[in-house]
Amino acid sequence: RRSTTGAHTPGRRTWVHERTRSGCLRCGGRVRTAAQGEGTHARTTWFCPRCQPGPGPGE
Ligand SMILES: [Zn+2]
Repeated sequence: RRSTTGAHTPGRRTWVHERTRSGCLRCGGRVRTAAQGEGTHARTTWFCPRCQPGPGPGE
């Protein structure tokens, strides 16, 4: 199965949701994005490598 860390936990996602420009609210670190899902279900997940393990490797 694929990791979906934070995918269903809004409280965690909001830390970095759409904050690629501002940085992580929690630690101020650089926020990264990762595509999750497939085709029409694909969506972008924001995560902070420092606060969260992240959905997976890659951008
Ligand atoms: Zn952070």
